[in-house]
Amino acid sequence: MSHSMSNEEEHTTHNQENNTENITTEEQTQETTQEESQVEQKIEKKIYPVSEILYEVAQISTILIVGKLDPDPAERIPAEPFYGYFFTNLAKRVTSQIPTLAVALIQNQMTLCINPNFWKEDLDNFRFKLGGIKHEILHLVFDHVMTSMRWSNKRLFNVAADLVVNQFIPRNQLIDGVVLLESFPELKLLPFESSQYYYNRLMELYQECSICKNGEKDDNVSWQNLQKFLGDGSDSQEKHIYWEDIQKLSEAERQALRNQQKKNMRKIIKGSKLPGNFPNEFREDIENFDVTQKPQLHWKDILKVFASNSSRTYIKNTLKRPSKRYGTSPGIKIAKKQKILVAIDTSGSIDQDQLAKFFEQVYHIWRQGVEVHVAECDTEIGRTYTYKGKLLPNMTGGGGTDFNDPIKYANDKYKPDAMIYFTDGYGDIPYEKPKCKMIWILSNNYAASPEEMANFPGKKMYMPG
Ligand SMILES: [Zn+2]
Repeated sequence: MSHSMSNEEEHTTHNQENNTENITTEEQTQETTQEESQVEQKIEKKIYPVSEILYEVAQISTILIVGKLDPDPAERIPAEPFYGYFFTNLAKRVTSQIPTLAVALIQNQMTLCINPNFWKEDLDNFRFKLGGIKHEILHLVFDHVMTSMRWSNKRLFNVAADLVVNQFIPRNQLIDGVVLLESFPELKLLPFESSQYYYNRLMELYQECSICKNGEKDDNVSWQNLQKFLGDGSDSQEKHIYWEDIQKLSEAERQALRNQQKKNMRKIIKGSKLPGNFPNEFREDIENFDVTQKPQLHWKDILKVFASNSSRTYIKNTLKRPSKRYGTSPGIKIAKKQKILVAIDTSGSIDQDQLAKFFEQVYHIWRQGVEVHVAECDTEIGRTYTYKGKLLPNMTGGGGTDFNDPIKYANDKYKPDAMIYFTDGYGDIPYEKPKCKMIWILSNNYAASPEEMANFPGKKMYMPG
């Protein structure tokens, strides 16, 4: 994380009385950033108890989920369960280390950071609080956070992304000074277009105007506003300063995070409808989302081969009182549950892209209902863990290659029905002989040839694509 306002007084209220799920109070980290120069320093700052902020956060959740009734029709707020459930499921943190609101990755979790003074003083009406929260949620929904590195001019993309999301928020929920279509009157921007469209249009304006002679474009409101938004932007509703941290993640980590996020979103959508004015492409993307692409290998069939002589069983129903003699009750359905050891070659020759593809396959193996145990290995096993649908951060590895350790681990410790080794195949033929069935899944690029793999024990398959 590269952020902070170190020359700002820290006044964290460590009020730990909140039991609210997903909420943590800030930790004091002492890091610096170039952002800090752009943030207006408030010398005299009022201190708000974190518990007070959290109480209001909880209130906002409730309003989003059930709406707000008021004798005055103008004060009524309709229920917006999609935002409500999303917000409830989002980790939150109250911290003065960010100037406004921001989505950040903290402890491997997408987290909404809330500056207490901004929350109380700038978002000084609960409508603005609603708007601010929706703004952040929409950035996540539209995948702006994860994709911002694709754009050559990231600041321009920030403006384009804000243009997209603010259109979905009622005007009376937005504070003054935020990016709106009207901010660019000369461009006559079409509503509800993609961030690509707005980015392109803003880029045209940027290229045209940034080479203008002094004064030539002074009367161009769009250009003036664009400069303002690209500049300090301190009156903006929030900042995107954390997005860059997310860009620094490896492709595998980012992919895992994104899958997690989309899965959550689908869960939320099952319980509540998407807002009616959502663009269809996003609706379809989310509603039809089936974790990344289709599996490239037919794991169902591959695992069937392994299963044929597997004798392992597990009991499908949970037993209240197992029979002393047989360990099960009669009539209980017994199903086969395969134990699969997945070894992942994490040596230096495997790049992040390849690892991401490996883990995508691991996910599909796991989806077949088998027990998956992962062993990360370069010259020796870095760590092993039971896979539960997502990979663990901080992958071990990066060294040379030796295939023996996982085979030994399978033989002596885990004793799986089958072992699947993901690798590029570059390493010596292992001297350890697997006692279980074994299959080598070779990466699609620059992997060892079938001839080179010929004397490896077990089957060999190449990842397609
Ligand atoms: Zn934004």
